[in-house]
Amino acid sequence: MTSGVLKVPAELDGLGIVASVSGGKDSTAMLLALRDAEIPHRAVFADTGWESDITYRYLDYLREALRLDIEVVADPLGMVGRSRERKGFPARMQRWCTRLLKILPIKRYRLELEERSGVEQALVVGIRADESAKRATMPEVEDDDQGGGWVWRPMLRWTVEDVLTLHNRHGVKVNPIYQLGSDRVGCWPCIYATKDQIRILSEIDPTRVELIRELEREITRVREANGKPGQVTFFQVRHGIAPMTIDDIALWAKTSHGGRQFDLFGAAPRGGCMRWGMCDLPAHPIVEPDDE
Ligand code: SF4
Repeated sequence: MTSGVLKVPAELDGLGIVASVSGGKDSTAMLLALRDAEIPHRAVFADTGWESDITYRYLDYLREALRLDIEVVADPLGMVGRSRERKGFPARMQRWCTRLLKILPIKRYRLELEERSGVEQALVVGIRADESAKRATMPEVEDDDQGGGWVWRPMLRWTVEDVLTLHNRHGVKVNPIYQLGSDRVGCWPCIYATKDQIRILSEIDPTRVELIRELEREITRVREANGKPGQVTFFQVRHGIAPMTIDDIALWAKTSHGGRQFDLFGAAPRGGCMRWGMCDLPAHPIVEPDDE
């Protein structure tokens, strides 16, 4: 066990603590660790409006099990509204999703809280170094020079075993989405989803596939009416010169080794979701993330 009882770093003495909750196992373990250490905190979840119902239900379970108020902040338009407004989905080179749907709502929440309470707030995020080489280089405490405020990453040295041990000790279940085979929790789907995640989504949530199909068609029509022809697709993956629609991708995700492989095995992104611990990004996405 590499985890121990959390201790608020000296830099954060006197600051309020806001825990960023995603519904994933690491941020849940972080809540449990804060509780064990009796560190007063608030918990906040940035709702993209694009999570799995399983995660929304899991957050309700956590509220009940921990008797904890997990506040929800959200961009007024969410993933669907923003995609319509921008006439396109977030993409590797246009990754507006993290900033608009997660970072800014949490930043607004923090600033309002600071104004109300008169106390500076630090955001505590449950990311672990062993998830990527980049995470391993992140400091445990950082005052973001781009106006993001203090960030505390107390679980950098924790292992998966530490995380699960803490769940077990508290009798708290992990998000059932893991048991379905998905190794990540977050946008449903994330633009960096893996082949497996797309397969699971298409098997258990045809309604979400249908929504993506409708959005792809609607945004394609709107762009064509504006003189910009060409199929718009949620995943920025092409088969030859043809963009792959959600139906193409869902079909491909069912293939095993026989299907053409599109995985680019890119490195996890360096900024945005990962930096703030607000999304649980995959190590092997179907499209290569940018280096924000
Ligand atoms: S989880 Fe993926 S789709 Fe969602 S905000 Fe993060 S990068 Fe964007």
